[in-house]
Amino acid sequence: MDVKTQARDTGVRGRYAPSPTGDLHLGNLRTALLAWLWARRAGGRCVLRVEDLDLPRVRAGVTERMLADLRWLGLDWDEGPAEGGPYGPYRQSERAALYEHALARLRAQGMLYPCYCSRAELARIASAPAPGEDGPRYPGTCRHLTPREREARERAGRRPAWRFHVPPGVVTFTDALCGPQAQDVAATVGDFIVQRSDGIIAYQLAVVVDDGWMKINQVVRGADLLSSTPRQILLARALGWPIPTYAHVPLLTDATGAKLSKRDRAAGLEPLRAAGMTPEAVIGRLAAGAGLIPEPVPISARELVAMR
Ligand code: GLU
Repeated sequence: MDVKTQARDTGVRGRYAPSPTGDLHLGNLRTALLAWLWARRAGGRCVLRVEDLDLPRVRAGVTERMLADLRWLGLDWDEGPAEGGPYGPYRQSERAALYEHALARLRAQGMLYPCYCSRAELARIASAPAPGEDGPRYPGTCRHLTPREREARERAGRRPAWRFHVPPGVVTFTDALCGPQAQDVAATVGDFIVQRSDGIIAYQLAVVVDDGWMKINQVVRGADLLSSTPRQILLARALGWPIPTYAHVPLLTDATGAKLSKRDRAAGLEPLRAAGMTPEAVIGRLAAGAGLIPEPVPISARELVAMR
C-alpha cells in the first residue's frame, strides 16, 4: 500500500525545504529523510518546497535532479512542485506576491524601516568583534533617520534594504532535539534584513511566510538553522502566524569533521548509485547514521515509518 494512503491525517504538516544551489549531499538527504519520517510517523502530511528565491545562485537543472533524487530514495510528498496542492505554488520564485503582501503588512504596522547602509559601512560593522555566532549586531544606524535624511539618500540613488525592527526581550522555545532555547535577538542580532536592496526577499521572511500560508506546524531541519529560529518566531508573531514545533537535527560531517558542501559531488548520491547501491542501501546507511537502526542494513523509507 502506498505510504500516502496509510496516513491517518492527524493534522500534522511537516516540510522539507531545500535550496537548489547545488546537488543534495548525504547530509541534506539525511535531513530530508528525518523531516519526512517525523511527519509520516505522526500520521501527518509531507510538503516539499523549493527555496529558489536567491535566483542568481540557483543553478540550472539542480531542482529537477533534487526532486528526482528524493523520489529515487522513496521519499514521497503530499504537496510539492510536482504534486501540486492547495497552498501552492511550491517554488519560492513563484510566490513573490505573498512576500510583498507580508512586507506591506509589516510596513503598515511600522515594523520595517529602510536601511541605506553601504557595503563599506556594513563591512565596518562586520569587522567589529562579535560575541555570538550570528556575527556582529546591526547597531540600528538607519533606524532613526529623519524623512529628510531618507530623501537625501534616495535622491543620491541609494536603494534601501528593509530591516525588521526587532522588539526588545528574550525569545524562548523548546526544540524537540536541542531542548530549551533562549535568545535576545535585539541584543545579539539586532534589526535584521527582510528584503535586500536588490529586491530579493531574505530567507528569514520567506520561510515564515511560506510556513504560515502552507499551514506548516512541524519544522524539522538542519541544526545550522537553530540560531535563525528566534528571528523567525518574531516574524511569525508579527504576522500573526502560529508558531510551529521545531526539531533541529545534527549536521552530517565528513571524515575530517567539516560540514559537507553542495559543491562537492562526491558527497552526493551519484557515486553511490554509480557503484550500484540501491535506494534501500542508501536509506539504511542514512538511518544508521542518524541512530534510527543499529546497523546500516538495506531498508526502505516506508519500512522506517512503521518501525518505532
Ligand atoms: N532552504 C534551507 C536550506 O536548504 C532550509 C530552510 C528551512 O528548512 O527552514 O538550508
